[in-house]
Amino acid sequence: MRLDDQRESTNIEDRRGDSGGMGGLGSGGGGLRLGGGRMGLGGLLVVVVIALIFGINPLSLLGGGGGPQEQIGQPQSQIAPSAGAPAPGDASGKFVAKVLGSTEDTWGQIFPQQVGKAYTPPTLVMFSGAVSSACGRATSASGPFYCPADRKVYLDTSFFNELSQRFGAPGDFAQAYVIAHEIGHHVQTLLGISDQVRRAQERASEKDANALSVRMELQADCLAGVWGKANIAKLEPGDIEEALTAATAIGDDRLQRQSRGMVVPDSFTHGTSEQRVRWFKIGMANGAIADCDTFSARAL
Ligand SMILES: [Zn+2]
Repeated sequence: MRLDDQRESTNIEDRRGDSGGMGGLGSGGGGLRLGGGRMGLGGLLVVVVIALIFGINPLSLLGGGGGPQEQIGQPQSQIAPSAGAPAPGDASGKFVAKVLGSTEDTWGQIFPQQVGKAYTPPTLVMFSGAVSSACGRATSASGPFYCPADRKVYLDTSFFNELSQRFGAPGDFAQAYVIAHEIGHHVQTLLGISDQVRRAQERASEKDANALSVRMELQADCLAGVWGKANIAKLEPGDIEEALTAATAIGDDRLQRQSRGMVVPDSFTHGTSEQRVRWFKIGMANGAIADCDTFSARAL
């Protein structure tokens, strides 16, 4: 992805170097479990069709999202924003700042056009090891995640190394895709979808709550595709494949096979690799938020 001319976002808190939040008490809970509900997005999308313009595979994202769910209920902590901290000057920090800047530029334009509201960008927290969020404490093992309660994206860039080495999904666009997926969760929060889903999950069985989480994750993949479509001119040959490789690598089915040798569909929270790729492509096809109504879709 060509980001040379891309401005860097200033909405970054660089907490790499901190000891990682130990946390105090808190409420923890947060938000991430999203679930279902109906989304405000319009229409049913279904659309699937379009086979993608690029022949790409969807990239689905990454594993992100789910983040701190496991930590819910745990101590939360003193979230200490590093106010006034300088923007990251290292290559990894600059890359993240540019991708984040790209999401701000893209959503800042798309949101008013498609939703009729101004886009309020989230803050991205770079951390190493462990971090405290309004959704609880998380470690690098959680993968990147978005916390609706404080509207921040948490990213340990060592995840990118893992993406490359463990999951065989190297490439800058694969990394950008991961960030775009997390921003997709922020868009869901701005649209009120995160809250609706969380409320629906509180009343749902574990199985149904999990199904809502899958739809939430696939919608974030689709929204990452919407961002991708808007930035298509900056993509380079192979980028989409990179993203799709990442998406494929990180689907719950693949991860579960690696960790337990079998696939247990009911416990999926992100969707299968195939589903992730498919929804990314749907978002990428028209760049329309309304196409991303995973909650109305009969087939995922
Ligand atoms: Zn996610």
